[in-house]
Amino acid sequence: MTYSILIVDDDSAIKESVEEYLKLLEYNVKSAINAEEALEVLDTFKADVVLTDIMMHGMDGLELTRRIKESLDIDVMVMTGYSAEYSYEEAVKAGASDFIFKPFRFEELDLRIKRVLREAEFKKERQELLKELEELAITDALTGLYNSRHFFSQIKTEIKRYHRYSRSLSLLILDIDFFKDYNDTWGHLEGDKVLHGIGKTIKACMRSMDTAYRYGGEEFAIILPETGIKKACVVGARIKDNISARVFEPEPGKKRSVTVSIGATELVDGEDFRSFISRTDKALYKSKDSGRNKITSIIAEPENNPDDS
Ligand code: GH3
Ligand code: MG
Ligand code: MG
Repeated sequence: MTYSILIVDDDSAIKESVEEYLKLLEYNVKSAINAEEALEVLDTFKADVVLTDIMMHGMDGLELTRRIKESLDIDVMVMTGYSAEYSYEEAVKAGASDFIFKPFRFEELDLRIKRVLREAEFKKERQELLKELEELAITDALTGLYNSRHFFSQIKTEIKRYHRYSRSLSLLILDIDFFKDYNDTWGHLEGDKVLHGIGKTIKACMRSMDTAYRYGGEEFAIILPETGIKKACVVGARIKDNISARVFEPEPGKKRSVTVSIGATELVDGEDFRSFISRTDKALYKSKDSGRNKITSIIAEPENNPDDS
C-alpha cells in the first residue's frame, strides 16, 4: 500500500529535501509552502500523514494541526527547531501524533512516519472490531434480525421520538401458528430453518425505515416509524401472505408451509412501551382466537391514554 504524505514548511530548502527523500522511499508526496496552502491541498489530496513545520508565517503549524483534526481523520506530525518556543505538550494538545526536532536524520523521520502509520492501522482495526462486536451484541444469530434486547432499547427510542416530533408509530408482533406441532413432527433443526426463512421473508417485505426483531423464541416484532395503523396493517398483511407462500421441505419430497398470526397497534399520546407492547400482544391473541393466519389491530381506548384521563 502506498501512503500519502503532505509536507508543509515555509523553508523551501527543507521542504524540498524532505519531499525528495520521501519520494525515494516511494511515498506519494505533496508539499505546501504555508498552512493556508496546505488546507487547500487537503481539499483534494487524501493524505495519511501531514508533516508540518510549527513556526511559519501566517497560520502556524499548531493552528494548522487543530484545523486538520477538527474535520479530518489525518495524523499530523510536527517539526520544530530546538530553539523554538513551542513545546511537545502544546503539539500533542493540538492533536499532533508525533513531534520531531530539526535538524533530524531522514532515517529517523521515516521510522517515525512508519510508527504513526502503524498506529493508525491498529486504531482502524480496533474500531472495525468494536463495530462488529456491537453489531453482534444486537443481532439474533439464527435469523439475522435484531434481538430482543435491541427491541426494548429501540422501542423506547422510537417512543421518545414520537413524543418529541408527534410522528405516528406502529408496532407489529407476529407469532408462528402451531409451531410446536411443526417441531414435534419434523424436529427442532427443521423448526430452526423455518425461523431462519421467516426472518428472510420479513426482511424482504418490510420498508427501509422499519426494523425487525426476533422478539421471543418464535415471535417477531416489527417497529414501523412514521406509520399509522392502516399502513402498518398493509405491511403486516404483506408479510403474513409472503410467509404462508414460502415452501419448506423438512424431508425430501415433503413440502410444508407455516402461517403466522399478527397483532398490530399504533402508539397513542402519553403511552409507554409496556402498554404499547401489551396492546399489540392482545391484538395478536385476538388473531389466534379467531382462527390464526390473520392480522388484527386494536385502536387504543381512552382509558389507555393518560392524557385523556
Ligand atoms: P400457537 O398457534 O398458539 O402459537 O401454537 P404454537 O404451537 O406455535 O405455540 P406454543 O407456544 O405452544 O409453542 C411454541 C413453540 O415454539 C414451542 C417451541 O418448541 C417452539 N420454539 C420456540 N423457540 C424455538 C427455537 O428457537 N427453535 C425451534 N425450532 N423452535 C422453537
Ligand atoms: Mg409463541
Ligand atoms: Mg406460536
